[in-house]
Amino acid sequence: MVKICCIGAGYVGGPTMAVIALKCPSIEVAVVDIATARISAWNSDQLPIYEPGLDDVVKQCRGKNLFFSTEIEKHVTEADIVFVSVNTPTKTQGLGAGKAADLTYWESAARLIADVSKSAKIVVEKSTVPVKTAEAIEKILTHNSINKGIEFQILSNPEFLAEGTAIKDLFNPDRVLIGGRETPGGFKAIQTLKEVYAHWVPEDRIICTNLWSAELSKLAANAFLAQRISSVNAMSALCEATGANVSEVSYAIGKDTRIGPKFLNASVGFGGSCFQKDILNLVYICECNGLPEVANYWKQVIKINDYQKERFVNRIVASMFNTISGKKIAILGFAFKKDTGDTRETPAIDVCRGLLADKARLCIYDPQVSETQIDKDLNMMKYSWEHPVLLKPVSPTALKQVSVVWDPYDATKDAHGICFLTEWDSFKELDFQRIYDHMEKPAYVFDGRNIVDPEKLRQIGFIVYSLGKPLDP
Ligand code: NAD
Repeated sequence: MVKICCIGAGYVGGPTMAVIALKCPSIEVAVVDIATARISAWNSDQLPIYEPGLDDVVKQCRGKNLFFSTEIEKHVTEADIVFVSVNTPTKTQGLGAGKAADLTYWESAARLIADVSKSAKIVVEKSTVPVKTAEAIEKILTHNSINKGIEFQILSNPEFLAEGTAIKDLFNPDRVLIGGRETPGGFKAIQTLKEVYAHWVPEDRIICTNLWSAELSKLAANAFLAQRISSVNAMSALCEATGANVSEVSYAIGKDTRIGPKFLNASVGFGGSCFQKDILNLVYICECNGLPEVANYWKQVIKINDYQKERFVNRIVASMFNTISGKKIAILGFAFKKDTGDTRETPAIDVCRGLLADKARLCIYDPQVSETQIDKDLNMMKYSWEHPVLLKPVSPTALKQVSVVWDPYDATKDAHGICFLTEWDSFKELDFQRIYDHMEKPAYVFDGRNIVDPEKLRQIGFIVYSLGKPLDP
């Protein structure tokens, strides 16, 4: 029986390995992590991450051919294929701070593999890493196991799943990308991994490339996706200035088959653990390779994203007579997108901080995010990528102005305004007449996701600001 071990039981390691276990009953899959609480959660009924369909997949194979464990050495030693799916955040100190990827976790995983391996292994980069990381890993593996005569093959197999649709994406991926060395050993390793995916992925969707193309493709894909969001967000500002409607513009341009309709929704900005970090990583690689103009091009994507959040906060303050001091604002949605409880780099953090800086009172509701998590997010030091400094968290006095509730109607009661920051489907079903009746007047809606029908809400009596759409007459 082929044995797979995945180091890192996070948003990627957990779901990807669960799907491999489900689709390949003949393969034994162990997912290991240093975080004991996370592993306990994977072994319980309360999985550590919320992802539609994940519970069902885990239940079907956990304990049969899928195991979650903290016995890292044991499972790495026994494995034929070791996936590394650890976090690769942005460095916050030293050379490259604010841009370069922090490969500390990656390196310690690679050193562990070198130390405990007793037989040949295929080591698969699942994490998103800078192009050329495989070369560094090869060095660590070969130098540390030089006397053991063990052959390691490194593959790059970046993950393209999106949180919120991870299981759907894994069951039916647009493509699976496998990069390897162009040597007989490299080709054999690619073939072995290809056979794993071939259990359910059609052959024409499995793309094999050289190592560097695979590593760079992941960064490029995220950069292109984020760029599309910043492009439409930049248009939303122009729409507001000119009377055009961004939804109509998006529809019109999306009908061009060269552009296509997906990922053209204006919003308060992209978030999540990947887009910003991966673009910064790309920027750093460009700078290191003497390509400052290319670096500047990609930086602009993040600048527009920051601008969009700032613009949104400014619009709220300006609309409410230039002062929100002491006013209650309901924040509906805190996760960085719908169908996930993940709040990493969510635009909600910046928007809330901006509103608190102007002394608003915030009442936050998100169906999947706890008070503890929100408190942690508002309390943490934030890193400024542009000027590598740590930004102070929200002050303790301002934090006292934040409450978190489990009911959207509690959040909106007596509020002066509502901000939609996550596009949860349930928000579309809210009883807006009931909400209007119990709000302060004038009652404002600031739609950062364009999920409500502005005309319907205006008929009730709300003053509505929708990103990129004509303002109230
Ligand atoms: P995560 O933080 O949810 O999970 C990483 C896990 O690795 C953590 O549980 C951590 O405890 C564990 N870990 C770190 N060092 C370890 C070590 N030495 N030994 C054992 N475990 C260790 O991160 P994630 O969201 O799953 O992302 C993982 C990688 O995949 C990142 O490089 C990310 O950029 C990439 N990626 C993420 C997504 C996404 O949507 N989250 C999508 C595609 C790619």
